[in-house]
Amino acid sequence: MPLSPMMQHYLGIKDKYKDCIVFYRLGDFYEMFFDDAIKASQMLDLTLTGRDCGLDERAPMCGIPYHACNGYIAKLVEQGQKVAICEQLSEPSAKCMVERDVIRVVTAGTLTDEAFLDEKRNNYVACAYKNSTKLSLAWADITTGEFFALSFNEKEGLTSLIDKLLKINALEIICNDELLLSVKDTPAITRGLLPTFSCYLPWAFNVKQAENTLKQQFGTLSLSHYKLDYCPECISSAGALIEYLKETQKHSLKNIDGIKVESISSSMMLDSNAIKNLEINKTLGDNKRYGSLLWLLDRTKTGMGARLLNKLIISPLADINEINYRLNGVEEIFKSSVIMLGVGDILKGMHDIERLAGKISNGNITPRDVITLANSLDLLPSIKFQLSGFSSKIIIDILNGLKDYSELSSIIKKMIVQENTPVLTKDGGFIADGFNAELDQLRNIKNNGKSLIAEIEARERENTGIKTLKVGFNRVFGYYIEVSKSFKDQVPYTYQRRQTLANGERYIIDELKELEEKILTSEERSVKLENALFEDLKQTLLDNIHSLKEVASNLALLDCILSFAIVSKENKYSKPTMLQGGQPLNIIEGRHPVVEKLSKERFVPNDCLLNNHDSRTMIITGPNMAGKSTYLRQTALIVLLSHIGCFVPAKSAEIPLIDKIYTRIGASDNLILDQSTFMVEMSEVASIIMNATENSLLILDEVGRGTSTFDGLSIAWAVLEHLTNKLKSKTLFATHYHELTELEGKIEGVKNFKVAVKELNGNVVFLRKIMRGGANKSFGIEVASLAGVPKEVTERAKVILKSLENRKIAQFTQNAPQDVVEPEKENLSEVEIILKDLNLDNLTPMQAFMILSDLVEKVKE
Ligand code: ADP
Repeated sequence: MPLSPMMQHYLGIKDKYKDCIVFYRLGDFYEMFFDDAIKASQMLDLTLTGRDCGLDERAPMCGIPYHACNGYIAKLVEQGQKVAICEQLSEPSAKCMVERDVIRVVTAGTLTDEAFLDEKRNNYVACAYKNSTKLSLAWADITTGEFFALSFNEKEGLTSLIDKLLKINALEIICNDELLLSVKDTPAITRGLLPTFSCYLPWAFNVKQAENTLKQQFGTLSLSHYKLDYCPECISSAGALIEYLKETQKHSLKNIDGIKVESISSSMMLDSNAIKNLEINKTLGDNKRYGSLLWLLDRTKTGMGARLLNKLIISPLADINEINYRLNGVEEIFKSSVIMLGVGDILKGMHDIERLAGKISNGNITPRDVITLANSLDLLPSIKFQLSGFSSKIIIDILNGLKDYSELSSIIKKMIVQENTPVLTKDGGFIADGFNAELDQLRNIKNNGKSLIAEIEARERENTGIKTLKVGFNRVFGYYIEVSKSFKDQVPYTYQRRQTLANGERYIIDELKELEEKILTSEERSVKLENALFEDLKQTLLDNIHSLKEVASNLALLDCILSFAIVSKENKYSKPTMLQGGQPLNIIEGRHPVVEKLSKERFVPNDCLLNNHDSRTMIITGPNMAGKSTYLRQTALIVLLSHIGCFVPAKSAEIPLIDKIYTRIGASDNLILDQSTFMVEMSEVASIIMNATENSLLILDEVGRGTSTFDGLSIAWAVLEHLTNKLKSKTLFATHYHELTELEGKIEGVKNFKVAVKELNGNVVFLRKIMRGGANKSFGIEVASLAGVPKEVTERAKVILKSLENRKIAQFTQNAPQDVVEPEKENLSEVEIILKDLNLDNLTPMQAFMILSDLVEKVKE
């Protein structure tokens, strides 16, 4: 038995979209058949039925109502599926089969329904490419039109590419065959930290082909404007991505009208490890936004601002002028609380123009969206007014980018009804009365049909003088004029006779027939006309899309700068002084921005001085829970904040340009990646040693902890030697191995610090103050007893410790580091070194007392 024609058509479509679940429109439903139906019925919890398809067995089938499709599509996409939507393109008729074709393919990276998008996050689809020498990545958000590319050299290529994909949180990744071969066994993929890579058509990556695709997309003759000239690998990935988007979206993607080629050197290097360890966008423990730096900094008022902030925070700047450009803007707003509040209030009323521009481009903008857009554009003049007296370059540039849209907005407001604006266009009712004469007439007819008929009846009675003339209606003749037989002779010649009755005649006149036509079709025609008018408006908006995007990006930047100013003001941050790389880093009374916000304890500020000569490496010792990690992280966060152009939690801060921040924090077991704690730790250390420079900031917490004491101590020792002697990076090294304090005086540039604690009746009291000198002991046992370990056990531990210390560890510190290169140094004792280093002008009486008591203890020892 042959397949039914509809099923044949279905299978033809399915053949073209093999990797998708096909939603096949039949009347008011999208139906799925065969394997798609079986799969979708399980994923969506739908009842599986069957349909006669011409074969012996019925085809498995399940369906969903067309108007509720978005929720189902989102669910499938969330579970990694692609959905091809096959729509009805012609009206059903008895004569021929309804025309159907795929109008869009929805994938994780190309969702556009705002109900399923997080307004604070971008939705990126990425395309990765590799040839024999280079790698590249292109990524785009079709809801905002942002489009980027980045190329990597071979050495660090694959790791950096994976790192970038993790950083941008790509939801969908396509690639060429060669790339897939190289990445398929990397842990980030085998363990599902990234979405599956799917191979795309090889010809799309061909440079010539890709170049043409891009030129066509941007409407330009050359790509030199986008700095793509010298980056053929970026052209390949970017061109292939556009090809893929065009194939799935099936429209022109007007809002992707250019590309930004990023360069590794244009921003500070902050790998995904540092982002994770410093809890930049989520916390380490529970992966929550609450408690992260982003959570603290995000006081943006708009979705576009929030999304930009997400990007700024993980791409600190590498150019001192660019940093100061932002800082000066923040400073100006910081100084004017009234404007800060005023502009904030206006921005609160502003809608997401960037995503509205995306909807214009994707063709799914609704009448209600258009009114929202007009209302937002109307707020632009008041923003300009509020900021009119400002003189920082960034604010002036932003204001220049906020074009005047009063004309467009007034057209929109004249055209679209402003109260209860409908979302859907299919029923009409969204074009305002008075905007279009024909539409008004159609509506008039529709609403006043009866009275218009009565008007004609009264007029004809009067004109003809026939008192019994009346207008009637039946299904056969439609509207007619009926005149009784006795008045037949008074009927004008323009009347056309249609029917003779026993006692009268029925006529029609042209006017009545025209009105009839209008009444009967007015509803349909008015909806059609409204849609046509709306299409014109959509075209006007599409013509403005480039500048609307510019307005959106300026508002987003303003929103971020405002957010920095608000947070800085509320938390008493200060403007950092930025210095060229190589200059000393000097933070006075620095604080940890998030800990000070969340902790109930009063936050104790601490200084930090790191230079390129005698103070390159701080070894920080102190018991667990004393505050070492907090101090390390706060220093990194202050550096990061300054590099994104935000004020910093410190009394004052001089910050040199830092090229990379590296972190090795905590013994975080990366079980998901199948690596032991120690493996993870050592691979992080290896990456730091390979890549850090003298302008890098290294945050190393407890290196060597994941192995036995002597292994760990030896590794920590050797790493410290290498970092300080060879790399000369600015390093903060926290350790509970107080034996490492031996290094001060042995390696130039190393200085010992400790987090002060006081012993009170056998208990430790944390003072949270960073002081010169090394801890004399680890206080591990005291902390254990603070944590509730019974006295019996801690007392026994003390005895064991004593005997161990007397034997092995002492032996180690004397013998191990024989080949340390001794710098030429005066032969000073520890006490003398501490005294020499003291800056008496900066000491409070309490600190002076503590240092004195510490020195006495050291001498007694
Ligand atoms: P360590 O790394 O030495 O084990 P942490 O840095 O984890 O200690 O600090 C332990 C806790 O002490 C933190 O969670 C924080 O609440 C508190 N803390 C740390 N530093 C300070 C400080 N400077 N002022 C106030 N509280 C602090």
